[in-house]
Amino acid sequence: MNSRRTFTSRPNDTHTWNPLTLAVLAGVWLAVLPNWPLWRALLALPETASPRGGLFVVAFGAMIAALMTALLALFAWRVTIKPAIAFLLLAAAFGAHFMGSYGVVIDTTMMTNVLQTDPREVRDLLSWRMLATIAVLAGPPLWWLWQVRVARAGWWPQAGRNLLGLVAALAVLAALVFSLFADLSATMRNHRSMRYLINPVNSLYALGDLAAQSGAKPAGPPLPIGLDARITPRAAGILPPMLVMVVGETARADHFGLNGYARATTPELAALDVLSFRNVMSCGTSTATSLPCMFSHLGKSDYEARDRDHENLLDLVQRAGMAVLWIDNQAGCKGLCERVPHVDTCSGDDCMDDAMLQGLDDRLAALPAPARERGVLIVLHQMGSHGPAYYKRSPPDRKPFMPECTTNVLQQCERGALVNGYDNSIAYADHTLAQTIAWLRGQQARFETTLLYASDHGESLGENNLYLHGLPYAVAPIEQKHVPMLLWPRAGFNAECLRTQQNAALTHDNLFHSALGVLGITAREYKPQLDALAPCRGH
Ligand SMILES: [Zn+2]
Repeated sequence: MNSRRTFTSRPNDTHTWNPLTLAVLAGVWLAVLPNWPLWRALLALPETASPRGGLFVVAFGAMIAALMTALLALFAWRVTIKPAIAFLLLAAAFGAHFMGSYGVVIDTTMMTNVLQTDPREVRDLLSWRMLATIAVLAGPPLWWLWQVRVARAGWWPQAGRNLLGLVAALAVLAALVFSLFADLSATMRNHRSMRYLINPVNSLYALGDLAAQSGAKPAGPPLPIGLDARITPRAAGILPPMLVMVVGETARADHFGLNGYARATTPELAALDVLSFRNVMSCGTSTATSLPCMFSHLGKSDYEARDRDHENLLDLVQRAGMAVLWIDNQAGCKGLCERVPHVDTCSGDDCMDDAMLQGLDDRLAALPAPARERGVLIVLHQMGSHGPAYYKRSPPDRKPFMPECTTNVLQQCERGALVNGYDNSIAYADHTLAQTIAWLRGQQARFETTLLYASDHGESLGENNLYLHGLPYAVAPIEQKHVPMLLWPRAGFNAECLRTQQNAALTHDNLFHSALGVLGITAREYKPQLDALAPCRGH
């Protein structure tokens, strides 16, 4: 308490601040400093090179200041103004760090990722740089705010003042929007991602959108699917099917040696009877959006437009009578595996993907025997190439590409070292996939085995100054959407047909139906035209 007095300057002891004045000051600070990623992006546009463009940028800042002032005017009371300002300052500082450091924008999807993340992922993102950014952007105003005394005013006078402040701020905002409408609408239309850079409006909007979504969705269990699901009778002497679906993480199609990448990132798979589908697009650009979509019968557009949640591939296969097992080596199955046997193998820090194969025989033996004899679906959810700490995604003895970037502040890395770390994670995925195929070979006396691998989304590695993933799909670059997809073995399919299919335009929409095709399950939800392997089956 003493130390606080020492630092408190004299005027503050006597001078008090009206809550509304604090609201205006905070509005200006928020508009100017934590929005530097927005200013950087706007000033880089050709439209803002002219004096008129410069004026537009200044006016845009005034609009944000007016909007934040209007918002804070609602909280301009003695008790609430400091917490409200502190919350916005911290939200804006965090937002500025992630947008400025990784080139991401903050929208509803990104907020979902943030809220669903686990402590391990958070640790990967923490850095001294983040603390420094937050200290610079939120520290001085928070310190000052801590010192000042808020004026005591009567309820009615303060209510009148706040209403006046709110109306004035909205009037300024309306006047600016009106006079700059042509520039504003053109800029926002041509550069759609700009709106997600307006800080901290983007975070508040995303939180509000999420709250609205969760309120709008009817509660209760997901709608059942596959009520008529049944297993197609097998010909005599044919073994029951075993499908291992491997869900990759953050793997880019163009960094797979199998797809023509200049580096041998997939040497083990190249020596096996693997088919690589080269033209596959993801459903989303983040795990939270892609993963449920990959296992849904709806496909991307219907999935995004759904008003109720449905059961997924796992429920359908289980309902058809087969054994199902989800093994998770990452941040969880996002609710997909709730109704089927599932296990987490990732508890430490690094979570190497070979952990999923350890004890797999026992896990298989523990599944109900009658179901197992009809067929088995195992999902392996990889840690894969999860960033930004790519160097943690391969063990020390499996790093063919050196030197590696060993910081999570990606833009500080030499680009070559960043790509090395990432490529090492792909090379390690090559190794674990080859090991999975070796395990499947061991099951061939009892099962007709198949492996299907697909990554959930790609990754930006500094192209156009973008890092990580999660940009809104419409504006995301191809690196975040073009994903690898693999099939093993090719044997048993028409080779000519597979050669056509490997270049066919496929998406995550094909996974659900291709998996049912491999397992020999029919149901109302199965669409043979989306089964990527249907045309190649039989001879
Ligand atoms: Zn992911």
